[in-house]
Amino acid sequence: MVDYKTIITETLKTEVLVVGGGSAGCNAAAAAALEGKKTMLVERYGFLGGTSTYILDTFYGFYIPGKEGRKVVGGIPDKVLDKLFARKAAILRPNTYGAGTGVTYDPEILKVVWEELLTESNVDILFHSFVVDVVTEGPKVTGVILVNKSGFFLVEADIIIDASGDADVVAKAGFPFDGIGGKEAVQSLTTTFRVMHVDNEAAISFTKQQMWDWMKEANATGNYYLPREEGSVHITTIPGVMATNMVRLAIPDPTNIADLSKAEIEGRKQALEYFRFMKDYLPGYDKAELMNFSTQIGVRETRRVIGEYTLTKEDVLGARKFDDAVLECGAPIEDHHNAAGTKWEYLEEGAVYQLPYRTLIPKDSTNLLVAGRCLSATHDAHASMRSIGQCMAMGQAAGTAAALAIQEGVEPKKLDINLLQAKLIENGAMINTHSSFVNYHE
Ligand SMILES: Cc1cc2nc3c(=O)[nH]c(=O)nc-3n(C[C@H](O)[C@H](O)[C@H](O)COP(=O)(O)OP(=O)(O)OC[C@H]3O[C@@H](n4cnc5c(N)ncnc54)[C@H](O)[C@@H]3O)c2cc1C
Repeated sequence: MVDYKTIITETLKTEVLVVGGGSAGCNAAAAAALEGKKTMLVERYGFLGGTSTYILDTFYGFYIPGKEGRKVVGGIPDKVLDKLFARKAAILRPNTYGAGTGVTYDPEILKVVWEELLTESNVDILFHSFVVDVVTEGPKVTGVILVNKSGFFLVEADIIIDASGDADVVAKAGFPFDGIGGKEAVQSLTTTFRVMHVDNEAAISFTKQQMWDWMKEANATGNYYLPREEGSVHITTIPGVMATNMVRLAIPDPTNIADLSKAEIEGRKQALEYFRFMKDYLPGYDKAELMNFSTQIGVRETRRVIGEYTLTKEDVLGARKFDDAVLECGAPIEDHHNAAGTKWEYLEEGAVYQLPYRTLIPKDSTNLLVAGRCLSATHDAHASMRSIGQCMAMGQAAGTAAALAIQEGVEPKKLDINLLQAKLIENGAMINTHSSFVNYHE
């Protein structure tokens, strides 16, 4: 730890501090504030949403795949859906890969919706602030150091929720993690892009397999550079605008900034090639223009903390239930590894597994929680649990747990699980949907 004492320009204090304003962080902050705790969220960009707004436009994980397709996420995440549907900024979309019904939204409107959620909950938001270090007293993380245009800030907090996606706080505090540097390669990265002035009707007139065949054909001419001969393009909430997930590249450690910088450049280069291919080969795209690249390259997986429990592939595919469950998931294992193809492994029809609260508690920590894609899970289990719906539900669980732990005067790992589960259910979270099938907007 660097001695920042001499350069700290401001010290702030809060009860709950959430690092990272992605789907998990926003829900965590809203949940903690809902329970009356003074809550601050710090985010390195000037808007909220993380991957949900700077890369994507579809929530998966709210609905399980299969014939029944029931809804398994509720509570604060429903407020986000309600706000999007009220603005006519979302549509339900059946997923052709079989990941379940997706909620496709306008990512620009979602930025405002996240802000409304947090401001209505009285969360203090600090944008343009990058957490670079932590202050510790033994196993306790008493605060974080962040840097922004105003200087170096110390933010002290009773409980810190690491929702940075990369487990930056956990790593800086010296708690163990897996993922980067582990035995399995982390998932590949994708620069997404959207195109406009598309003839929608023509653009949905061909199958994904046909598009993949055309990709092969284009590559075979030697005139195109399409490293991945698969991927997808889908309708959005805006007529004439289509969104893609085609680019693929791999680096061993997406937190290594030299490698990530090269990946950003390669990602946009690939994106332009896929766009050229689309205009040349796909019906409906002859007048299309590039609308935007994702704000940054999409990172699926980096550090996964080692928690009080680590979710496994067997837990996922075996539809395992836990006494300390805080949410459910029916999403398949979806591993975008670097070789050809994407690995899909499904639970049995209609099945879900539960996520134990312990996966959100870094092992041996006393005042830390995590939420979102840096949870404690093996590579395979993570590939199922990382959908935005589940990241939101993890956020709600972690934020509620932080508030209750402060209220009860206990460490997060000593919190009475019955108290946490009762509060989550009271606030609409869905922990056991077997007996209560509820569907949204039916
Ligand atoms: C290419 C791609 C396609 C995907 N497709 C889908 C899909 O279609 N549907 C779906 O449901 N899921 C999809 N996923 C998975 C899903 O989007 C992510 O797992 C999920 O959004 C992660 O949410 P999060 O809140 O945990 O992390 P993130 O969204 O990564 O948020 C982390 C936040 O923390 C901030 N931050 C990071 N470090 C710091 C720091 N040190 N200080 C301050 N702020 C910091 C970041 O700016 C960011 O806002 C996809 C992922 C990728 C990459």
